[in-house]
Amino acid sequence: MYIISKCLIGINCKYNGGNNKNDDVIKFCENKAFVGVCPECDAGLGTPRIPSEISLALPADKKKRIVNREGKDLTKEFTLGSKISYDKALKSAREVNQRIEGAILKSKSPSCGVGMIYDGTFTGTLIEGNGVFADLLIDKSIPVYTEKNFKNFIIDK
Ligand code: SF4
Repeated sequence: MYIISKCLIGINCKYNGGNNKNDDVIKFCENKAFVGVCPECDAGLGTPRIPSEISLALPADKKKRIVNREGKDLTKEFTLGSKISYDKALKSAREVNQRIEGAILKSKSPSCGVGMIYDGTFTGTLIEGNGVFADLLIDKSIPVYTEKNFKNFIIDK
């Protein structure tokens, strides 16, 4: 079973009320078990919502902070939403008696981004890093990909 960012399969859960529908991801999902999740929705942030980015102004404990464009710290919400999404994915995997083989996540998102994320300045500037949900999955040893690179790594049977 695969975890998929819900916005990639056409669900309108993006911060602006839209989606990031991706035909390659949808085709990939056609013949296999998957669970769509949106950590920011699971955080109860609502759609549409004010966009957030991971802040570079790290506090003394060096933990990631997620701040919305109005300066509100949403670190707790993002952390909780990621945990809820992960728990939902685990439950779905158990229901079909499969292990979670990997995740295809929306690139650049402060939740789902893998490898590159926005830098917290809301200027469209990218830096190296992962979103909060991607980090959680990596901690759980689940391979993570984006809609841009998954075909280079996953052999579609
Ligand atoms: S990138 Fe992740 S958190 Fe953002 S809308 Fe898509 S699924 Fe939700």
